Amino acid sequence: MGLRIVMLGAPGAGKGTQAVRMAQEMGIPHISTGDIFRKNLREGTPLGSQVQGYLNSGALVPDQLTCDIVADRLQQADCANGYILDGFPRSLPQAEMLTRFLAGRGEKIEAAVNIDVPDEEIVGRLSARRSDPDTGAVYNLKFNPPPPEIADKLIQREDDKPETVQARLKTYHETTEPIIAYYGEQGVLLNVPGSNAGPDEIYRRILDVLPA
Ligand code: AMP
Repeated sequence: MGLRIVMLGAPGAGKGTQAVRMAQEMGIPHISTGDIFRKNLREGTPLGSQVQGYLNSGALVPDQLTCDIVADRLQQADCANGYILDGFPRSLPQAEMLTRFLAGRGEKIEAAVNIDVPDEEIVGRLSARRSDPDTGAVYNLKFNPPPPEIADKLIQREDDKPETVQARLKTYHETTEPIIAYYGEQGVLLNVPGSNAGPDEIYRRILDVLPA
């Protein structure tokens, strides 16, 4: 039986990198709301045009719209044995809606993994983040360098450019950070120090604290 896990932490803390690996090794889906929105943007769907302005400015997509998309996704068959939510919830109302949605099915979040990285480090990390437009794989020029043969095709996310990073960090502190305490109160919070270490070491730290 897999776990229902949420990943918490500032943008650039390493949530996505760790979530992908955890999902692969645990055989459960990785659900990233940011990836879902970006895919819709790329494909020019109606949802894509609805969320474009929010993504480009680094603002949050409205709670209800985001929660509806997640609720849809969580009802798919591959979520029956657990999943890793990455980038959701991102506000107290989202966290509360998720709790209610799960409670209605007799379920709950079993672990909230908070990767803790100081702001000073976040700005440097986001400016060095690059992704592979073909596979979606995410690298960091400094901490998680890409294989040299693909280095030329990598792109920087529009919202990782310095103008948008400050807005995203502000939103993180004001709107997202309070959910760390929310999961603390529910007794499922697992804090993992996310600085001064590469992805392999952070992954070991996560495995150390996750319930068996
Ligand atoms: P991410 O890839 O998780 O950094 O998400 C990229 C962007 O997608 C964010 O800056 C928001 O505009 C939007 N987004 C992703 N997840 C959420 C969420 N849970 N609630 C609202 N907006 C979100």
